[in-house]
Amino acid sequence: MRRSIRYQLLALFGAMLVGTMVTYLALASRIVTADKLATVYDVNALLAATVADQIDSTLDALSDKLKYFAAEGSPNEARAKALFDADDEVLSLELWKRASSGGFEKTFSFIDLPRLQSLNLAAGDLEHARKEYPVPLESVAAAGLVVQNASLQPDLALLRVAVATSNANIVAVADLRPERLLKVVQGAGVYRVFVVDARGAVLAHPDPQKVLGHMDLSALPVVKDALDAKVARGSRDYGADDGDVVASYARLERGSAAVVVETPRAEVFRATRELQERSILFAIALMSVTLIAAVYFSRRVTAPLRTLELTMARVSKGDFTVAVEVTSQNEIGAVATAFNEMTKELGKRNDELERKNALLVQSEKLSAIGELSAGLAHEVKNPMVGIVGFAQLGKESADLDEAKEYFGLIDNDAQRANSILQRLLEFARPPDVERERLEIRGVVDGAVKLVAHQLQLQGVRIETRYAEGLPDIIGNGNQLRQVLVNLMMNAGQAMEQSKEKKLYVEASGADWTVLVSVKDTGPGMAPDVRKRLFEPFFTTKPRGKGTGLGLSISRSIIEEHKGELRVESEIGAGATFVIRLPAAPPATVQPKAAAS
Ligand code: ADP
Repeated sequence: MRRSIRYQLLALFGAMLVGTMVTYLALASRIVTADKLATVYDVNALLAATVADQIDSTLDALSDKLKYFAAEGSPNEARAKALFDADDEVLSLELWKRASSGGFEKTFSFIDLPRLQSLNLAAGDLEHARKEYPVPLESVAAAGLVVQNASLQPDLALLRVAVATSNANIVAVADLRPERLLKVVQGAGVYRVFVVDARGAVLAHPDPQKVLGHMDLSALPVVKDALDAKVARGSRDYGADDGDVVASYARLERGSAAVVVETPRAEVFRATRELQERSILFAIALMSVTLIAAVYFSRRVTAPLRTLELTMARVSKGDFTVAVEVTSQNEIGAVATAFNEMTKELGKRNDELERKNALLVQSEKLSAIGELSAGLAHEVKNPMVGIVGFAQLGKESADLDEAKEYFGLIDNDAQRANSILQRLLEFARPPDVERERLEIRGVVDGAVKLVAHQLQLQGVRIETRYAEGLPDIIGNGNQLRQVLVNLMMNAGQAMEQSKEKKLYVEASGADWTVLVSVKDTGPGMAPDVRKRLFEPFFTTKPRGKGTGLGLSISRSIIEEHKGELRVESEIGAGATFVIRLPAAPPATVQPKAAAS
């Protein structure tokens, strides 16, 4: 299959473009992904630490206030109110003292009722929460500070902070609204911030249901790290229910809790993905534009080449009058100019060659005439002798009637001589290139008449045979006669030494072709002679006798007639030359009987 340069160029540029873009995209994505991941780890860790610090300082401030309240003499409502005024998130306050029995007993309790009412809460709600989630007093005594999620379903969000005095004998407990803590964990964009207690249950979470449900997150790898790891801060990534996440934790300094920051990987790489998607769209757009441009430009490049190709095909068929239009000054224009010059030059040379060829054909014909001259002279001489004799007799005749009879005989002989010379002149004239519809029989007869006398002098007997209903041919009678004269003269020369000198000239037709064979009873020819027979200047005749051009010219004449000239010959078995010519299409006009 032919592949045009245009498509090869297109495929090359397309492959290069796609390859470059894919490589660039892959590299860019890798760099951006790695960079982004590193940044996310940093930001996660920083955010966790910052939130932890913030909560720590809030708890510190509250712890100081509660310790102060617990330590200063006997607590009373006025001091409790002062504490409530200093912190508007506090809803209730309790003091527990270690009893002599070892356990803790409540020594003071205060609830800010108006504050509760303003929040649509009742004292019973707090009671309920305390029952449901009692203060782990011993843990508080041991740890110094415990933060507890005391929320109740369906909508009571409650945070509890319990602080022990330095001698661990008094524990102050405050129930708080968790707004401050929730504010810290909310609105961090793609970063999910939450706080878990010492068991891994939720203390603060952007999802209120998780806070109210005390959701247990201890199974999360990052929460496990936060609870168990030796270091207070760390990061890791893992697969969560809603996809892979990158996570960091920071333990609080106090309160046995930890801040966790989770970032979904999908969010992290959203920009990268968008970059990839846009790059692909951009690549498609770029490729489409490039494709259109490539088609346009390659068409401009290859269109002149196509014209050149078509013109070349015409030149190769012998039409040297064509030229391609030079439309550009570039390399293609240069090729077109060179091509036009080449065509012109080829045309000139072709004309020259044709002229020389015609001269050669003519000279070969004249040389045949030379060979025929003895026979022709003889043939003309006979009527001339007759003319002279009858003229003598006419001169001497007594009456006019007798003289008239001699005039008649003189006329006959003169006509005969004239027709012989006429035939010779016809044969000798340079051939015109015109072709016409011809009866093959007329052509063969004409040639036979030209050589008959010469061959007769050489002792050759000619036999002609024509098949019935031969189709006509289209051709040049003069040229075809030249071929036949050449074949018959060659045969005559070949039979010079032969005992039997017979020449069979036959015409037959088959399957839209006409066959003319010239068969002699000469010595035939050896295979090496047969092979070279049609080569120009190949002759076995002595110098000055043969030119070696007869058969090569004959073959080119027959080929110009779209026919074929071949030989069949064996040593000692004579030679048969066969001319095959295409038959003319059925006649609508009467063919020329071929002048002879
Ligand atoms: P030329 O007749 O000038 O030699 P041709 O091309 O007509 O040139 O013939 C080439 C050669 O072919 C002759 O020299 C001869 O050897 C051989 N040849 C041609 N016709 C015959 C034939 N009928 N029998 C044997 N040889 C032949």
